[in-house]
Amino acid sequence: MSAESPSDDSPHFGRGVPPVGASGRWRWVRVQAGGEVECVSLTSLPWWFDTHHIDGHTLGCLGPECPRWLHKTGVRQRIFLAVAMLPPRPVWLLEVGAPAQPILERALAALGTLHGRKLLVRKEGERAKSPVILTVLGPHPQAASWGAEPDVGAYLRRLWAETIAARERAQPPADAERD
Ligand SMILES: [Zn+2]
Repeated sequence: MSAESPSDDSPHFGRGVPPVGASGRWRWVRVQAGGEVECVSLTSLPWWFDTHHIDGHTLGCLGPECPRWLHKTGVRQRIFLAVAMLPPRPVWLLEVGAPAQPILERALAALGTLHGRKLLVRKEGERAKSPVILTVLGPHPQAASWGAEPDVGAYLRRLWAETIAARERAQPPADAERD
């Protein structure tokens, strides 16, 4: 069920909580070096994607559709969760890297789900690129009433495809040939 995802034909109004932020985009959790953010997981399982990193942005690998200028930058796996500061909405996206993987694995082995779990997201040190350190905390008391989970996979695939297409329109790469 993907009613939580924006799409070109998504309604402009509706009853209940809005499916996405006012901008139509989910926001990204940004943690400053030395800072921390507490949020709540809206997803039962994290999502992982092969991604590219270009000009400071993470863009998902489109596989066979991935343009060569992007694909040649190399692939790394990143992990994504939908979270909320004041659950259940608006939805924010949290991107974490390899250091978070064993933490999420242990939490899932012990709890079976991340849905409704409070998360403490910290960035130690002084560098903006310091890894994000995740701590899984206790459950949010209202989590059972939040309804369907945001469809992180569908949202990110659409976002990246649109972002990559817009980038190709704006600056057609000399090497536009696709693999
Ligand atoms: Zn690729």
